[in-house]
Amino acid sequence: MSADCIFCSIVDGDIPARTVHETDDVLAFLDANPLARGHTLVIPKSHAQHVGDLDDGLASDLFAAVTELTPRVQAAVDADGANVGINDGEAAGQEVPHVHVHIIPRFEGDGGAPLHAVGGDRPDLSDDELDAIAADVSAALDG
Ligand code: AMP
Repeated sequence: MSADCIFCSIVDGDIPARTVHETDDVLAFLDANPLARGHTLVIPKSHAQHVGDLDDGLASDLFAAVTELTPRVQAAVDADGANVGINDGEAAGQEVPHVHVHIIPRFEGDGGAPLHAVGGDRPDLSDDELDAIAADVSAALDG
């Protein structure tokens, strides 16, 4: 629990939300400024700012809720698909510093874009550079 976190306040019931799903560890509610009908946020109840801050059990519970909710949200609003994603860190557009997974229903012809649209200018990477990045990520996991 973080004192000035708006999503912690929702978990505590101090701020109202349109809750759609709740377990001991996870809460899902409608986004207050939806990008589409049914735009839903899924959060761990305990405060964590970044996905990397979640322990394995909570990460598993969170993703289980996302996989359960996504098709049901789509069905509820008669959507044709959904984008599921996390803005992790300010540079990625995270405004609320409490991990939350966006489930954004998508409709044929809605004028939206795929997740690929969130990136900046695409880097032009050689095979050697891609190999080096893969090695660096792999080494970071081993470290
Ligand atoms: P992000 O940019 O990923 O941090 O997104 C934060 C999301 O939280 C935005 O889509 C907001 O519309 C949403 N949001 C902020 N405050 C509330 C609230 N009190 N209830 C529901 N959604 C909220």
